[in-house]
Amino acid sequence: MLNTDAQDRIVWRSREGTDMEYSTYVVWDDIRQVPDQVPWACIVWFPQAIPRHSFLMWLLVCKKLKTQDMMCKWRSAGNANYNLMCCSLCTSGPDSHDHLFFECEFASQIWYGVREKSGMRSIENTWEKILNHLLQHADSKQATHIIGKLVVGASAYFVWQERNNRLFSSKKRNAAQLIEVILMTVRMKLHTMKFRRTSHVNQVLLEWRLPRDLLMDQDKCG
Ligand SMILES: [Zn+2]
Repeated sequence: MLNTDAQDRIVWRSREGTDMEYSTYVVWDDIRQVPDQVPWACIVWFPQAIPRHSFLMWLLVCKKLKTQDMMCKWRSAGNANYNLMCCSLCTSGPDSHDHLFFECEFASQIWYGVREKSGMRSIENTWEKILNHLLQHADSKQATHIIGKLVVGASAYFVWQERNNRLFSSKKRNAAQLIEVILMTVRMKLHTMKFRRTSHVNQVLLEWRLPRDLLMDQDKCG
């Protein structure tokens, strides 16, 4: 029955048939297409992630970094001769995703230098094996698994940065310097986090030389 005393108001009927208070947020959420979440989403985007590393990881898992093997496919459209170019890190292998992450002789030194501190001691230096390991623990809240994602993200970021520096400038760092900057970056990030008090986390704090005041009884990570 029509209620003449009540004020008219705008409502939005959702696709499930529920009447909701009208707002652009509700309308957008209802009309947009929502595809299934990709399995690597939590590897690229997670609460503790470093945004610029996430962006690089996103390109990397989609194999969209503009390596020279990719650019070769565009060669017919331009004059550049990419056949003459090779990996700027080792100057012998191809400039490709698989080579740079981390099959290259130089990049593999980086991987072997950081994997131990991130619970990936047994993971070999191929992107397929590293990605498979991360996918197995993508949703895990355990400190080691979150640190693993941070370390892989930082390693990929700094290897790619070093590759670009060597291609486009005269800047050059050795493997030990890169390992140091990767571990320092992750350690700085860990300083901003809080950890649940467990024996496993105690080991993590010792391993990363983190102060015990990062421990809390209840928190996001443990
Ligand atoms: Zn190389």
